Amino acid sequence: MADVTRDDAVSEQAGKDLFQILRDGSPRTRSELAGLTGLARSTVAARVDSLVRLGLVKPVGTAVSTGGRPSSQFALNSSGRVVLGVDVGASHARIALADLSGRILEQRSVSLAVAEGPAAVLGWVAEEGRALVAERGSSDDLLAVGVGLPGPVEHSTGKPIDPPIMPGWDRYDVPGHLSAELGVPVLVDNDVNIMALGEREIAWPDVDHLVFVKVATGIGAGVISGGRLQRGAQGIAGDIGHVFVHSGKDALCRCGNRGCLEAIAAGPAVAAGLRDAGVEVETSQDVAELVRAGNIPAIQAVREAGRLIGEVLTTCVSLINPEVIVLGGSLAHAGDHLLAGAREVVYARSMPLATSNLQITQSRSGANAAIEGASMLAIHHALSPARIEAMLGEER
Ligand SMILES: [Zn+2]
Repeated sequence: MADVTRDDAVSEQAGKDLFQILRDGSPRTRSELAGLTGLARSTVAARVDSLVRLGLVKPVGTAVSTGGRPSSQFALNSSGRVVLGVDVGASHARIALADLSGRILEQRSVSLAVAEGPAAVLGWVAEEGRALVAERGSSDDLLAVGVGLPGPVEHSTGKPIDPPIMPGWDRYDVPGHLSAELGVPVLVDNDVNIMALGEREIAWPDVDHLVFVKVATGIGAGVISGGRLQRGAQGIAGDIGHVFVHSGKDALCRCGNRGCLEAIAAGPAVAAGLRDAGVEVETSQDVAELVRAGNIPAIQAVREAGRLIGEVLTTCVSLINPEVIVLGGSLAHAGDHLLAGAREVVYARSMPLATSNLQITQSRSGANAAIEGASMLAIHHALSPARIEAMLGEER
């Protein structure tokens, strides 16, 4: 490592803050930035020039100071660079080009089974990603790619680990594959985590404590606490589908254990219960359709699934005290019955202070949660202090 004087180290630290201050989008003059960072005006001017050349900051008019001449103001240039957000589902893939505010500029999707393997799926992602970036400008505009996968992902490496519905993907180097193709950092996370990020971005931007629960073929949660997505030590925080629920103690789960929440309350379990009662139904979507059509056994089964999910959520409420719990996924789109069951149990069983301001609600972001969240994952990384510092270093 090169010699760094103490003053340099201090200014490096303060320089990071300069860009982070501008991320809120408000325009500021160089002297305001000097005041906020404690940096010399000449240093601020050099930093701002570099950030403008990188397409991250732009001049936005002038401010008239009292008695002085007008001075230029600068703000985040949200349209200066782009990211890609990718949502890989069990039977589809979607990709979106987004600006630095997370606004989706363009998106494409394809019917493609994740079981076709990484070469087919990531090949499509790389090809469409290059095309989307090229349509808008130059490949140099791309800063990062965020990807959501329908299975557990080891956070430190971005590799899927023993994903049940993804044959051929176990420990596959997804970030390595895509960053070799697209030339930028690639962040990978499981679909529920990115849906939590997307839901917060779209519907709850001011909420710092949010749990997003996906109820579909499986059950999982994305936990945002203190304004940050919490992944835990290995990246599987929020994996509530395999928590033991006593009333399901005999049900065999795909994980090999018995009595998991997922084995009694996810879409396939609800559908199987209805079939046993003589109702013709296959998938979570079928169950949701029956509920919307007013089928009484289906409504009762979904409400009971909501109660079982509520049992596990009661523990989550005690542990992390969220402001909002959002239910999403195909079974949550069956109307308010899943929600009603979950509310019934959580409000009855949690401590009053924990539920006094707790909202339990349906997902508002719908199909866009995943690609919005994947774009946010890319933006958070691309604009992090460490990445900005690295880009400024390459600039110098
Ligand atoms: Zn299980």
